[in-house]
Amino acid sequence: MYTVRAASRRVKLSSISGRSITAASKTKTVTNEESFSKVVPYLAVAGLTLGLSSTQLIERDEKTECSIFGGSNVEDAIKETEDKFSTYWPRNIMILFGPPGAGKGTHGPKIENMLGIPQLSTGDMLRAAVSAQTEVGKKAQAVMKAGGLVSDEIVVGIIRDRITEEDCKFGFILDGFPRTLVQAKALDAMLADEGACVTKVIELQVPDQVLEERICGRWIHKKSGRSYHIKFAPPKSMKLNADGQLAVESMVDDETGEELMQRADDTSSALVKRLSGYHLETVPILSHYQGHGVVKEVNANQGMDSVWSEVLGSLSRK
Ligand code: ADP
Ligand code: ADP
Repeated sequence: MYTVRAASRRVKLSSISGRSITAASKTKTVTNEESFSKVVPYLAVAGLTLGLSSTQLIERDEKTECSIFGGSNVEDAIKETEDKFSTYWPRNIMILFGPPGAGKGTHGPKIENMLGIPQLSTGDMLRAAVSAQTEVGKKAQAVMKAGGLVSDEIVVGIIRDRITEEDCKFGFILDGFPRTLVQAKALDAMLADEGACVTKVIELQVPDQVLEERICGRWIHKKSGRSYHIKFAPPKSMKLNADGQLAVESMVDDETGEELMQRADDTSSALVKRLSGYHLETVPILSHYQGHGVVKEVNANQGMDSVWSEVLGSLSRK
């Protein structure tokens, strides 16, 4: 499950700094089972191309005791089908929309794992640029810490480059972008160049009052962007000291055991500014996309499992 997220949240800084740095460096051997589950949809189409069902493709391989990926015919058919999809079919382009703390980072990875398209978080990309102290990072650092918005020019440039990467060829999930009407229109224009458009906007609705507790209790794993919460989603390792205070050294990532951190802008004062920016500059984007009939509203002010059920419903065509 983690592989897809690590790979897709890998931040390519080459496009914004001229240097190639990866923010998410964890790699994992991908098993045949994992690879298989990712190619099943293409296998089905590949089967059609060869006049076979995907079950027949698998049975054939089992009979000859070959690995499913061993037969070059199957590999060629998959490649051919992938190429057809990425050349002739429109990309699936989603926006995860909501205020800071709404749950974009919580639910994005689940959509990513389910649909096999990457979640692109401009916040993660910018934080990686700040950590690496690239030119973009140096420009963005102060404004991010204070809860302001980085310039449209910078973020549009980052997204423009990122969506040309191979892993975005069937689509992508935008998290934290677009944040202004200028960014939304720039996105529409770059998609229009290939005859594509935003296919879904999932609006996570949460009243402002509940966001402070979410934001001030958030801890993140920097490399992957995974988020935890001291009350609502604690890491398995979390412990309290004898005095009842949080044992900071116990805050480690469930998957890697690496330390968690709190974001510099996850403070009450920065949140006030971020929320005001959200209402003033970001919310108007909704009316822009409502005209396209692609906005789905989700009540994100309930338990995470219930939110996820609604998100699933909003993704479905039915
Ligand atoms: P965003 O990416 O939209 O800023 P996150 O997904 O990081 O928000 O969530 C912010 C914090 O709130 C995290 O600590 C997360 O664990 C917690 N959280 C997310 N969804 C819920 C929920 N439905 N109920 C309670 N806490 C939540
Ligand atoms: P959150 O998940 O809490 O909504 P993000 O991680 O998306 O926050 O963004 C963190 C900060 O990065 C923002 O407060 C802003 O300074 C900057 N940022 C991220 N995306 C954009 C964007 N599309 N336009 C301008 N600034 C952005």
